[in-house]
Amino acid sequence: MKIVLVTGGSGLVGRAIQSVIERDRRKEESWIFVGSKDADLCDKESTRRLFEKHRPTHVIHLAAMVGGLFHNMSHNLDFLRNNIHMNDNVLQTAHEHNVAKIVSCLSTCIFPDKTTYPIDETMVHNGPPHPSNYGYSYAKRLIDIANRGYHDQHDRLYTSVIPCNVFGPNDNFHPSASHVIPGLMRRLYDLCKDGNTENKVFSVLGSGKPLRQFIYSIDLAKLIIWVLREYDSVEPIILSVDESQEKSIAQVAETLVQAFNFKGKVVYDTSAADGQYKKTASNGKLRRYLPDFQFTPFEQAIKETVDWYIKNYDCARN
Ligand code: NDP
Repeated sequence: MKIVLVTGGSGLVGRAIQSVIERDRRKEESWIFVGSKDADLCDKESTRRLFEKHRPTHVIHLAAMVGGLFHNMSHNLDFLRNNIHMNDNVLQTAHEHNVAKIVSCLSTCIFPDKTTYPIDETMVHNGPPHPSNYGYSYAKRLIDIANRGYHDQHDRLYTSVIPCNVFGPNDNFHPSASHVIPGLMRRLYDLCKDGNTENKVFSVLGSGKPLRQFIYSIDLAKLIIWVLREYDSVEPIILSVDESQEKSIAQVAETLVQAFNFKGKVVYDTSAADGQYKKTASNGKLRRYLPDFQFTPFEQAIKETVDWYIKNYDCARN
């Protein structure tokens, strides 16, 4: 029997895994989803009690201090220390409890700032990350280093996945903490809540031209479950949509406008910074394993997320 413990089980990705597993139960697996109410993973003793209680054989480690650009820039030390503590506590406690396999989560935003495109799995440590989020990035990069150490010294299969930007139900919509899609959704929701939108203006920060890859949390959940069940390498694997599915911020804004049925004007505030023009990541490695995996069409995934948000606004993370 596999006992799978999912840390960060109450977050965007954790809740998506929960909903996929509800439809894809296997009798040889039992799944446990935990959030910060169940244990403070920055605390070794609390982490140990969690492992004592559930005695997992497998771990999906999603828990992290996660935030938007502004929060990262002003709290790099907190991002570094909290994530280092959480990752070390989870990996070492798992090792002490003889956990057979761990899948941890890195991110495409931790790659070197100066790089060639598309980015691939071999480039994680090739140069300094973007200065805005060095704390988060170095803490995440150390997971890959630790995975290699647990493999070399103890023959453990502790591996990692590298998702691109994630969106979906249960995201964080708080204005100062949110990523681009939930941030724009929150603003459109506020503009649409009184009904008539014809005279309203939806202002999008930046030129709308930068390109990004976005993965629907439900698709990412299916891929992480596949990694847990089938992927047997310590080397990280990028979990991203295809390069051809890259979207401009303007396309994202227009898709959201359709989904909200917003009838007002969309303007691009070019006085705000655009950030990097693109950060294209290659999913070539994933495609070699799963050439036929179908990603949910972007419009459909956005519509499902918007419908969820409108229905669950009162209990969402606003
Ligand atoms: P969320 O912010 O939605 O969730 C974070 C989770 O971590 C929550 O379940 C939270 O618990 C838990 N957590 C935070 N601090 C602690 C702590 N001290 N002890 C125990 N649990 C804690 O994150 P996502 O679902 O978006 O991210 C999941 C993973 O994916 C992270 O590792 C992130 O770095 C990575 N990632 C995310 C991307 C994105 O675009 N969102 C992109 C690429 C990678 P609670 O809510 O109960 O407090």
